[in-house]
Amino acid sequence: MNIRAAADIAAKERQVVVKWIKRCLREVTKAAHELPVDYPTARNDITVTIKGAGHRSSACAKGITIDIVPFRKQQTHILEYPAFAADKVIGSRANVPAEIALAATVAHEISHFVQYRYGPDTRWLQRRYRKPHGEGFQDIYRILRSRVVNAHAESSATS
Ligand SMILES: [Zn+2]
Repeated sequence: MNIRAAADIAAKERQVVVKWIKRCLREVTKAAHELPVDYPTARNDITVTIKGAGHRSSACAKGITIDIVPFRKQQTHILEYPAFAADKVIGSRANVPAEIALAATVAHEISHFVQYRYGPDTRWLQRRYRKPHGEGFQDIYRILRSRVVNAHAESSATS
């Protein structure tokens, strides 16, 4: 993992971002999901940029950029793309812990990284990875929201 953090990013902020990136990559590279990459390779492949600029988080085939400002402000909602905002698994959510909102942002951007980096070589993604928030993206994001992010949101809500 090649990490580039802006000067104002605290060690704790960097740690929490890296923790959720690792959880997402560990899940999505499980053999059951049939990506053409294993966890150590994916972890090596990704470039992570962490900023506190108040810009949008983003991703491409090289890696992801996470803006930490919503987490700093302790934002407690997940605001998703309109096409699937109402979906029970991958949609928007209110009143989640701020770390879960950050985790959802990480999962969203990791899904973009996976679609562009591995989509062309993944059998079940080959024909549907191209559209930014299309079917392929949503399938990857559904894995990460259900198995990584939402699972933690539910356990922290009941404890
Ligand atoms: Zn997106």
